[in-house]
Amino acid sequence: MVPSACFQDHLSPDLLKANVWSKSKEDTNKQKDDHMGRKVADCRDFPSESGCTLAIAGEEDEVVIAATQHAVAVHGHEDTDEVRTWLRENLKDEVAL
Ligand SMILES: [Zn+2]
Repeated sequence: MVPSACFQDHLSPDLLKANVWSKSKEDTNKQKDDHMGRKVADCRDFPSESGCTLAIAGEEDEVVIAATQHAVAVHGHEDTDEVRTWLRENLKDEVAL
C-alpha cells in the first residue's frame, strides 16, 4: 500500500539571464621599434633651471647612461633607477636632418 503523496508541483521560474560580457581583451601589442634608430635626449625637452640645450644622441642604452651622468653632473639629479627610467621614457627618435 503506497500512501498517496501530496505531490506539489513547485514551479519556480528561474529566469537566469545569462549576461554575456563580451570582453574584448585588447592585446596591448606595443610595437617596439626594431630598427636600430638612434635616440636623443634633448635637455630642451626636460625641465631645467639652467636652460641647458644639450642633446645627447646614440643608442638607447648609451643615451640613458650619458644623459644620467649629465643629469647628475649638470642638473643636480641623483643617479637612480627612477631617473634612468624617466630618461629612457623621454627619449626621442633621432630625426635625420
Ligand atoms: Zn642638460
